[in-house]
Amino acid sequence: MERGDPAYDEATFIGNELYADRRPAYVVMAHSVADVAAAMQWAKAHDVPFSVKSGGHSYAGYCLNRGGVMVDLSPMQEVVVDTESMTVRVGGGARWLHVYEELAAVNRNFMVMGGICPTVGVGGATLGGGINLFSRSFGLTIDTLVAMTIMTASGDVVDLSASDELDDDLRELWWAVRGGGGGNFGIVLSMTLRIFEMGPIAIGSLSWDDLGTFEEALAVVNSGLPREVAVDAVWVKPDADAPTTGSMTVSGLGSVAQCQTALGEIFSPRLAPSRSTLSPQVFVEWDEADKVWDPFTHGTFFYHVGFIFGPGRITPDLLTAVRELMDGAPSKSVFHWNHVGAACTEIPADATAYRWRDGEYVATAKIYWHDETDTATCMDWAQRVKDRLTPYAIDGRASYINYIENPFEGWQEAYYGANYERLRDVKSMIDPEGFFTFPLSIEPREVAR
Ligand SMILES: Cc1cc2nc3c(=O)[nH]c(=O)nc-3n(C[C@H](O)[C@H](O)[C@H](O)COP(=O)(O)OP(=O)(O)OC[C@H]3O[C@@H](n4cnc5c(N)ncnc54)[C@H](O)[C@@H]3O)c2cc1C
Repeated sequence: MERGDPAYDEATFIGNELYADRRPAYVVMAHSVADVAAAMQWAKAHDVPFSVKSGGHSYAGYCLNRGGVMVDLSPMQEVVVDTESMTVRVGGGARWLHVYEELAAVNRNFMVMGGICPTVGVGGATLGGGINLFSRSFGLTIDTLVAMTIMTASGDVVDLSASDELDDDLRELWWAVRGGGGGNFGIVLSMTLRIFEMGPIAIGSLSWDDLGTFEEALAVVNSGLPREVAVDAVWVKPDADAPTTGSMTVSGLGSVAQCQTALGEIFSPRLAPSRSTLSPQVFVEWDEADKVWDPFTHGTFFYHVGFIFGPGRITPDLLTAVRELMDGAPSKSVFHWNHVGAACTEIPADATAYRWRDGEYVATAKIYWHDETDTATCMDWAQRVKDRLTPYAIDGRASYINYIENPFEGWQEAYYGANYERLRDVKSMIDPEGFFTFPLSIEPREVAR
């Protein structure tokens, strides 16, 4: 497909005008492994940029490229549930909603540690780590990944897993694809993930009329919660003149009463939320997720910056900084974190490419606008947030590769910490020419860019 074809426009639409100038020359809708291989070979033969799209949710539009070939994997969305092994095999172009729907058709309590937002692509999200509302109990998506089939830059299709039969190179690749991030090592054709049969769970939103009480309630979160419960905090400023509001998305294993008990003081008369929708839920039916996230609408620009904070880091000075930054936002803005830690910390920081195992709060600040003339002001705000909050991040730099940004100094250490050099080794071995390249791709040693 080329420009001018409505299907081309649909395939390249990522809901963010900021990257509207990234226009591939051709979009290939891949229905099979052979289609993927042919598109890749054509891009190589013509020496043009190449990129892969699954769900199209890359924050910085890296599924797109300028003037090259974009392979859209969305036709490859087959989901096969295996109740015997309690695993699900997912096509490289599926979104989480496809997985959730197929699982629910078998058993409404079946779940994978997939994205909270159902429209996120399984491929992109898994390669970067993958955070779910229940990651504190069961780990990141990559911690539940059983196998992956990937086409490398040489065109080989390889099966990766924890199998002892893999040679050393493929073992390294298996390490790298678990947290190394999308668009770096090959095209993921399918993944196999562990299924969890959930007992009762409670999910809901707690909101406060008064931001001060919300912040005091966050002190309870900061002092530590049991692994069965997670609190994702959200600050929203609906527009430049509106006040900032605070809410929490709470998720817990067990009943609502058990969840409230785990939250301790938060439900005390002093701190109790003004409103609570905490209720028994089935994850697949919980539709609040979309509301926290970005609108996939035409005419919207957005940008975001990310941070990973360690346990105990939600201190009053950090909260003051967040409040001041939000109050000063020149347009609609959101500050948000996913609550991780617990099970995610039980895997060593060098066991997979996902480095920030000691992270507790995976945060983003986002700003939205509709008029191009506001771009500089809004981007300035994002930079102010980055400058002010980065010192609070782990090692004064940590950020989540799946909340990827435009290039910035030190991105290698921010996303990968000490794992970056090993990732470069894998890249040099598996894609020495740097065929899979985008502005923040892992740099092979041999190719200077
Ligand atoms: C609204 C929204 C909600 C989100 N919610 C969550 C969440 O709950 N949990 C979480 O952990 N993250 C979340 N994210 C972040 C998300 O995980 C990343 O943006 C992820 O990269 C998106 O993957 P994608 O396939 O949708 O995007 P794409 O833009 O298609 O891909 C992202 C990157 O991965 C590459 N890629 C995609 N598919 C493949 C593949 N099959 N093989 C190789 N490379 C590939 C692309 O080339 C690109 O570089 C969210 C993001 C948004 C915008």
